[in-house]
Amino acid sequence: MLQRAGNNVSLFERFESPQPIGSGLMLQPTGMAVLAELGLLKRALGMGSRVDRLFGKANERIVLDVSYSALRGQQAFGIGIHRASLFALLFNAAKAAAIPIHTGRSINGSGLKGNRRFLRFADGEQSSPFDLVVDALGTRTPLAPATGRELAYGALWASLDWPASGFDPHTLEQRYERASIMAGVLPIGTPPAAGEPQTAFFWSLRADRLAEWQAGGLAAWKARVAKLWPSCAPLLDQIDDPAQLTFARYAHRTLARPTEQALIHIGDAWHSASPQLGQGANMALLDAWALAMGLESAATVDEAVATAVRLRRRHVLLYQWLTNLFTPVYQSDSRLLPFVRDRLVGPVSRLWPATFIQAAMVSGLVGNPLKPLNLSTDKVLAE
Ligand SMILES: Cc1cc2nc3c(=O)[nH]c(=O)nc-3n(C[C@H](O)[C@H](O)[C@H](O)COP(=O)(O)OP(=O)(O)OC[C@H]3O[C@@H](n4cnc5c(N)ncnc54)[C@H](O)[C@@H]3O)c2cc1C
Repeated sequence: MLQRAGNNVSLFERFESPQPIGSGLMLQPTGMAVLAELGLLKRALGMGSRVDRLFGKANERIVLDVSYSALRGQQAFGIGIHRASLFALLFNAAKAAAIPIHTGRSINGSGLKGNRRFLRFADGEQSSPFDLVVDALGTRTPLAPATGRELAYGALWASLDWPASGFDPHTLEQRYERASIMAGVLPIGTPPAAGEPQTAFFWSLRADRLAEWQAGGLAAWKARVAKLWPSCAPLLDQIDDPAQLTFARYAHRTLARPTEQALIHIGDAWHSASPQLGQGANMALLDAWALAMGLESAATVDEAVATAVRLRRRHVLLYQWLTNLFTPVYQSDSRLLPFVRDRLVGPVSRLWPATFIQAAMVSGLVGNPLKPLNLSTDKVLAE
């Protein structure tokens, strides 16, 4: 976006070459509106899988049933996509725009030369100074002060072949036992290196129980998953090595001040949360769009970053709060929260207007974030 607006962009990345890290995520109408503006949405949909519904059961009780179609008047949907697909999409666009990409550059700090900011690298070298450094280094960024907290729970993730039966290719499905056990199956389409459609399979796990899980062996764990959710058998059959599952730990953090002189933090570097509401990548895209808008309209870099933060802050704080509120309902040791979820919230949530509110929430549309950014879900459909 910044390159297209005539800025001279350089990109620094710690890895030498692209690596397939992690499994899947969900693009929501918010992030999709940005991809549509970039002309990348059609390709994202081609690589991923359209998701129309989120569905979850606990002991045969339906406790989650959100259809994007509940957003009357807006034809919304999500896209389940492998991280490698989303990466390839953005990486190819950056290459096509002839943006210089400096790989193998591990950043460990920055400093000022006059009004401009330079980067410090782990090998002791420094970059030349820039008018603006955009910190998109993720939740453990070395360019911002440490803040927030690691969450007790994370999840094991694996990318597996989409099973021939037992699952709907347009539904993110989950099973729970209280809030301490959760399994999920997210369709993620066909990633670049795979010839067949895949699923992201996840199993919630407390970080301090990872060693216990490893020691317990695969067979015992598979039996436990199969008991909770028998349809997972064809997925479990594909797992014969614990290394197929990657443990992802979640952190909840929000920088109070996402800017400094010649520096702005965007995406997870500004705010990160558990993926319970599936918003992080979408929020990162909205932040990037807001920054591009700020730079286009403001007279100075200071003014531009202040505009970008102003355009995003309310939505960021709202979703950080919502995610904080909902995460323990699905991932915690609480007995009360899942009890209320299963018996009260679950049934009520299937009635209007709860259906609408939930669909707006998972779509990322609560707080109307697209309007100040001149974005719209209509363009999503047009593309
Ligand atoms: C298991 C899991 C599931 C998720 N599911 C969803 C979902 O369904 N929907 C959703 O929207 N979000 C989801 N998220 C959140 C989403 O992945 C993040 O919000 C999103 O990736 C943030 O993007 P980012 O560009 O800010 O940071 P990142 O994706 O973390 O990218 C940071 C980049 O900076 C590079 N980097 C890091 N440190 C350095 C350094 N020191 N020097 C140089 N380079 C460096 C990294 O290699 C990487 O390329 C999920 C997260 C997890 C962990």
